[in-house]
Amino acid sequence: MTVTKQLYRLQEVDLEIESGKRALEQVASQLGESQAVIETQKQLELEQKRLEESSRRQRSAEWEIDDIATKLAVAEEQLFSGRVKNPKELTNLQHEVEAFQARRDQLEEQALEIIDQVEQSEARVAEINSELETLKADWQRQQKQLTDEMERLRAALADLGSKRQLLIGEIDPPAFEFYQSLRKGKGIAVAKVEQGICRGCRISLPTTDLQQARGGKLVQCSSCGRILFLP
Ligand SMILES: [Zn+2]
Repeated sequence: MTVTKQLYRLQEVDLEIESGKRALEQVASQLGESQAVIETQKQLELEQKRLEESSRRQRSAEWEIDDIATKLAVAEEQLFSGRVKNPKELTNLQHEVEAFQARRDQLEEQALEIIDQVEQSEARVAEINSELETLKADWQRQQKQLTDEMERLRAALADLGSKRQLLIGEIDPPAFEFYQSLRKGKGIAVAKVEQGICRGCRISLPTTDLQQARGGKLVQCSSCGRILFLP
């Protein structure tokens, strides 16, 4: 194999390594926490707090209703017992009973509103919970795919690394050094020649250069300085 073909093959491997590394970085950047999961978790906590607060208000309203019902029962018992004979006292008792009844009705109405809020909050908590489960499952699936992809890329890069070492071992060291310095400066060190044109800079090459390159000699493009490779 001519030295230019060796260098061209090395360059192919080097370019594959570069793109593999870029792909690996890209995949790695997608690993990590999910913003959607964090946001939904926050929403859930907020709604759970709201539910706790409504439930607390519901218990307190129910307790108040029980209390007023007891007071009302006592007042009604007194009113209809026949023990109270004084008309003024009876009128007062009657008013007391009416006031307790009004208060009870008012509390019951409030309690219904609170129960409605509790039910809405419960439904919302269940809804967010299921949303969160879906998001977490999606995220875990995605992370697993990314981790698998990273493993695949790492293995491919390891293979390419070994291939590179084998190729370098076959190349004349000064030619390899020269290739390395060109790669550093130009990115592409070895340019293919197609129809007499350097694919590195698209200039038409002189016949003498083409002849030398065809013979397998290490010839540089007179325009861009790249090593010419005739396939
Ligand atoms: Zn050129």
